[in-house]
Amino acid sequence: MKIVVLVGGVGGARFLLGVKTALGMPAIGEPESPSPHEVTALVNTGDDVWMHGLRICPDLDTCMYTLGGGIDTERGWGHAGETWVVKEELAAYGAEPTWFGLGDKDIATHLIRSRMLRAGYPLSAVTEALCDRWRPGVRLLPMSDDRVETHVVIDDPEQPEQQKAIHFQEWWVRYRADRPAHSIVSVGADEAKPGPGVLEALGEADLVLFAPSNPVVSVGTTLGVPGVREALRKSKAKVVGISPIIGGKALRGMADACLTAIGVETSAEAVGRHYGARSDGGVLDGWLVAEEDHDVTVPGVDVRAVPLLMSDVDATAAMVRAAFDVAGVSGV
Ligand code: GDP
Ligand code: CA
Repeated sequence: MKIVVLVGGVGGARFLLGVKTALGMPAIGEPESPSPHEVTALVNTGDDVWMHGLRICPDLDTCMYTLGGGIDTERGWGHAGETWVVKEELAAYGAEPTWFGLGDKDIATHLIRSRMLRAGYPLSAVTEALCDRWRPGVRLLPMSDDRVETHVVIDDPEQPEQQKAIHFQEWWVRYRADRPAHSIVSVGADEAKPGPGVLEALGEADLVLFAPSNPVVSVGTTLGVPGVREALRKSKAKVVGISPIIGGKALRGMADACLTAIGVETSAEAVGRHYGARSDGGVLDGWLVAEEDHDVTVPGVDVRAVPLLMSDVDATAAMVRAAFDVAGVSGV
């Protein structure tokens, strides 16, 4: 079976561990003998940013480290056993930005990536090269090789009555999303092309899943790359989404602030309706919601209530099996 999963960072990476487990692959790393199944993750790159001359790809790295066994499991991002010497030295120079967590081990990843990008390699090739070390057991495809960056329009702290757009990372990490967002813009999306293999993967998929990742700035950004939505709509595969909202709350993170910015209520029903039914111009055939959201309805979409807490890999794998069930895929 060929499965394509649209993912962001932390939530997406955890979900992929469950997808692999549900398919009988080891959660971390590659199977010892070749698996009959193939998992492709379409990873959001809208969070990517240049800092201190380094290209940082938070969601790609979170997926790569998590699936490759190198993640700091407490934090959910960055390397296990990370140290912060370079960050402290940069701060001692007063080099901005100082609010971004740039670990020493992480910097090695960013150095290799930046050097390869400057030498002319596309992000997809760079990602493949980095995965030679991490062996995530899943094909990690950047949603696009083109520069697409999520920016957030907020009130300008320095100029009253004025608004300004800041990079998503600044809003998220520096301000913890507590400055109201007037809008969220995907800069460069209009001219971006899907990364190599993205449309092919969607075309060949037996099943497409949306991880319970941020519906605006992770899954939403990928859906905003021209061609992706159309490929999903045409795909022979069923598309099943997993709600990141449980009982009206986002788990870990501030997804509610992103939903508010685009005028969508923070509820499993509103997010399901925002994605919409494939039979009605949207992208979903199935929508998994948490048990407490069992009364949710989305016109044209098969909604099922199941436990949706990714408390451990087995719980996540059970959720993935429920998605298989909704999609009617067998033989797994
Ligand atoms: P980011 O890229 O690091 O911002 O993270 P993602 O976009 O991958 O995922 C963040 C989303 O995952 C948030 O909207 C959370 O509500 C959701 N999330 C986190 N943990 C869980 C969980 O255990 N179950 C479900 N259903 N959603 C979760
Ligand atoms: Ca992210």
